[in-house]
Parts: sequence; structure tokens; C-alpha cells
Amino acid sequence: MTNAPWADGVGVGRARLDGGSVMVLHRPDTSEAHLATVDGRTFSDLPALLEAAEGQVHRIRPGAGVAPAHTDLLSPVGRPRKIVCVGQNYAAHVSETGRPSAPPYPDLFAKWDNALSGPYDEIVLPSESEQIDFESELAVVIGRRCRRVAAEDVESVVFGYTVANDGSVRDYQFHSGQRTAGKAWDRLTPLGPVVVPADRLGGAWPDLRMTGLLNGEIVQDDRTSGMIHGVPRIVSYVSTFMTLEPGDLILTGTPAGVGAVRNPPRYLTAGDDFEVRIEGIGALRNRYRAEKPR
Ligand code: MG
Repeated sequence: MTNAPWADGVGVGRARLDGGSVMVLHRPDTSEAHLATVDGRTFSDLPALLEAAEGQVHRIRPGAGVAPAHTDLLSPVGRPRKIVCVGQNYAAHVSETGRPSAPPYPDLFAKWDNALSGPYDEIVLPSESEQIDFESELAVVIGRRCRRVAAEDVESVVFGYTVANDGSVRDYQFHSGQRTAGKAWDRLTPLGPVVVPADRLGGAWPDLRMTGLLNGEIVQDDRTSGMIHGVPRIVSYVSTFMTLEPGDLILTGTPAGVGAVRNPPRYLTAGDDFEVRIEGIGALRNRYRAEKPR
């Protein structure tokens, strides 16, 4: 691994360590991991790691070997400065939700870091709703501080990609014309297990199979090349109005098959597990349980 730290599906993850967290390099399908270092330093979160590496993959090197338990793996970003999300970004999902046409501009909304969970965490279903839904998504991780990036230059500011489930509380989502109440819920957005460098995944034009599995059955299945607004367009558009910084996340939208539009609707209930797999990155898989009565 020392000679070729980024070979064979290795990505950047974050693991629990001594009451805190540490950034690691690992392959999700193995237990082997190494501390992720830049000039010999270790890091507790992804934004600082990417700042030190100036967004350059080759500057991140494996340090000492570690062996985090599966359950010690955390969201690869703990405290991103921003989480921007794109809605209505796959044609069949636009159709299934009854919209007459695709949005002409990226349909943006926001989350905050309270929403994130680890890739294998047990997730508590909030007692206020029975309409908790899943959305399999590719997440972009920004590598370098940037503003007003031209679409053709986006590849130079994207560090990599990871897997997300844009957990959505549908009744709260539609209480008003703004989605925030249904999208920014505590811990309903698992992320991970690792961030794989973009240059291993097609640069700014990833064409990766993405599947969502409810209790092992495929319920979402598409390719990330099916996005209406691709990564160059999304990052260029967002960077028009805000400075993007290392570790910022952009969730790029979900394909068809979400629970809310099924007949009858199929929302997540206690005991379900939902898995999102993206080719070349890996899978996150979370079990859901009921909130204890207060
Ligand atoms: Mg979504």
C-alpha cells in the first residue's frame, strides 16, 4: 500500500479513535487501513486534511496501520462548512414526482452537519413522522477553495466522490414551499464509507452504476451519468454565488424509485435496512429503529 496508496478502490474515511476521530485511508471491503497523512501530520476531519494537501490526491500518504472496527467508521466528513443538495436531477425522478418538466437551473437546497450519520450507523426514525424516505445519491467533495469556476475547470476543484442517502421526511418537506424542515433533520443523511478521488471515477463526468436496496431488494437503479445537470454545471453554478471550500459537500440528486411515489407508498419503518451502492466507491448500509418513547 505504501508504494501505491491510491490503488484498488482506496478512499479517505474517518474513524472513531480515543474519543475523537482520525482520517484514514482504506478500502471499504477490507479491514486494512492506514492513517491518512500529509507531510507526516494526521487529521481529525476531512476539511483540514484537504487544506493541508491543497486538494492534491498524491500529497495524502498512508501512515501507521490501524484497524478500525466496522462500527467505528464515521461520515468521512464530520463538519463540512457547507452541504448543498440538488433536487429533481434525474428525468425519471422528475416524472415520478409529477413535475411537468426538468428544472432549467439546478434546484438547490441546503443541509447542515447535524444531518450527517456514519455509513453503517443505526438510524433512529423520528417519532414526529411516519414518512421517512430514502434517496440514493452521489456526493461531490470539493478539494480546493474556489469561486466562479467555469464548467470546463470544475475537474480541478473536485477532490472526489462518496455515497449519500438524502434522508427525507416527506410531510415536513411539503409543509411549505421550502424543503428545509424535511431535509435537514438530525442524522437522517448517512454518508460514506470513503471518498474516492475523482480521477479514478471519470473526473467531472462520473458514469457509475448507483443502486438503492431496501432490505436487500433493489428499489433504485440508475447511472450517475443520467443527471440532468452534471457535476460541471452544478459546481460552476453554485460557485457563482458562494466560495466553495475543501470538504464542502454537494449531493447531486436521486434517481427514480423513492418510497413516497410508490403505490402504496413505502416509507422506512423500524427494522428496515437501506443500502446505497455506487460502483467504484462502495456501499453504505443503515438499519432503522424506532425512537424510544420520551
Ligand atoms: Mg435528494
